[in-house]
Amino acid sequence: MKKDRAAATRRDWLKMVKQFRFDPDRPASEAVWSPRLECCSRDELRAIQERKLAALVPFVYENSAFYRRRFELLGLIPSDIRSVEDLQRKWPVVTKDEMAQDVSAAPPYGTYTTVSDEVWRDNGWMMFTTSGSTGTPRIFRYTHNDRHMFTWASARAMHAFGIRRTDTLLMCSGFGPHIFAWTAQHALTHMNVAWIPGGGLDARARASLVQRHRPSVLCCTPSYALHLARVMQEMGGDPAMHGVRLIFVGGEPAIGVPQTRERIESLWNARMVEFYGCTEAAAHGGYSCQVRAGKDRPVSAHLSEDTQIWETVRPGDYAPIERGERGLTVVTNLNSEGSPQLRFLMGDYTTLDSSGCECGRTHLRAMGSFVGRADDLINVRGVKFFPVDIEHAVRSIPGAGDEYEIVLSVDEGGMDVMTVRIEHAEHAHPAALVDRLQAEIRTRVEIRASAEVLVPGTLPRTEFKARRVRDARRKA
Ligand SMILES: [Zn+2]
Repeated sequence: MKKDRAAATRRDWLKMVKQFRFDPDRPASEAVWSPRLECCSRDELRAIQERKLAALVPFVYENSAFYRRRFELLGLIPSDIRSVEDLQRKWPVVTKDEMAQDVSAAPPYGTYTTVSDEVWRDNGWMMFTTSGSTGTPRIFRYTHNDRHMFTWASARAMHAFGIRRTDTLLMCSGFGPHIFAWTAQHALTHMNVAWIPGGGLDARARASLVQRHRPSVLCCTPSYALHLARVMQEMGGDPAMHGVRLIFVGGEPAIGVPQTRERIESLWNARMVEFYGCTEAAAHGGYSCQVRAGKDRPVSAHLSEDTQIWETVRPGDYAPIERGERGLTVVTNLNSEGSPQLRFLMGDYTTLDSSGCECGRTHLRAMGSFVGRADDLINVRGVKFFPVDIEHAVRSIPGAGDEYEIVLSVDEGGMDVMTVRIEHAEHAHPAALVDRLQAEIRTRVEIRASAEVLVPGTLPRTEFKARRVRDARRKA
C-alpha cells in the first residue's frame, strides 16, 4: 500500500514537472529560450511554482526518509503545505549541518533522496561532491530524469547570457566530481555548441589551445581567467587578440567586484558572465543576462523561478526578510528526483529584486550578485567581513598583482591578527604598496591588518576555487 502511494506520488510529480518543460530542445527566439516561462507574469510564475510544489510535497513525504522524519517532528502532513506561503511559514530551513548529520547517521549518502537503493541500482546514477572548502565534501547522486531537467534549465541560462550554437568553448577545468563542469558540458552539448575539454593541461598548454583554436568562450573561475591571461602574456601573446568574446565563470563571487570584472574583461576584450548553483540543488540556479552592468546599473543574476523557489532569510534566526534587504539565499528545488530540496539554506548573501529586467525576464534578480557564503564570513576581533571585501581593497591599488591571500593568526598576546599578502606587478614599488593596502583595508573593513608584498608568482594559482583564506587560529 505504502509502496503504491510512493510510486503514485512519484508519477504525479514527474508528470507535473514535464508538463512545464516548455521548449525543451531549442530556444524559442534569439533573445529568450522560453518566453512562456522566462517572461510570464509573476502571478503566472507563482502558479507554476505552486502546482509543482503541490506535487513535490507528497512525493518527498512518501519517498524520502529524511523528509518524512521532518514532517513528523514538525507535526505536519503534506496537506499542510499547499502554497509558497505555507512553506515559508511552516517549514524551517534545512541547513548543511542537518544534512551532514543525516549522512553521518546513514553513510555514505544519507536519506534525503527520493530514490530507493533498488531504483538507483536499476537505473544508474551520477555522483557529484561539494568542494569541501568548509568541511568534508558531501556526496549527491542524480538520476537521468535529473540530468534531462538540469540540462534544459542550464541551456536556458547559457542562452540567456549569450552562448550560441556557432560558439566554441574551452573548458579550463578537469572533470572531477564537481557539478559545474559537467552541467556546462551537458547543457552546451544540448545546444550544439562546439566544445574543447581542457582538463589535465597546464596553463601554458591551455594558452596554446586558445591561440591555435580560437575558442569564443572560456569557462573557468574568475581567478583562473586572470592567471591564464598572465601566462599568455608571459608567452608573448595578447589575450585580447584571440577572439574570446565571453568569459563564463562560476565558483567564486568575483563578478560582483567591479575592478576584478573590469580587469578580466579588458585583458581578454570579452564580456564576463556568471553561472550560479550548488551541488545540493541540481546544478542550476542563477545566471547573467545580456544587460550589461554600468555606472548606474549594478551587476545582477537572474534566478530560475519556474524550476525553483528562491528567497532570502535573515542570518542567525533564518526568518524571512523583506524584498530589498540583504539576506542569505534559500532554495526549494522543484525539479529534482535525486536531490529534491524544501527550503535548503544555500547561504550566499545577496539582495533579491522582483522589479523585472530590461532583457524582458521577470524572474527574480540577485542584485550585486553573490558576495559570499555565510560559511566564508571572516570574524576578526568581532569585526565580520567577506574575503571579497579584501578583494575590493586589493583591486583598488594600482601596481598590485592579481592574486591575494588572507592569513589569520593569533599574536603573542592572544589577539587575532590578519595579514594580507599580495604580489607586486612588474615595475611596481613594493614598499609603497604596503602602506596603501593597509590604509585601503582599514577604510573598507575597519580593521588594522598587516600587509606583505611578494614577488610575482609567489602565491599559488589554482584551477578550481581559489583558496584565499588561511586560518591558522586556534579552534574554539
Ligand atoms: Zn535580464
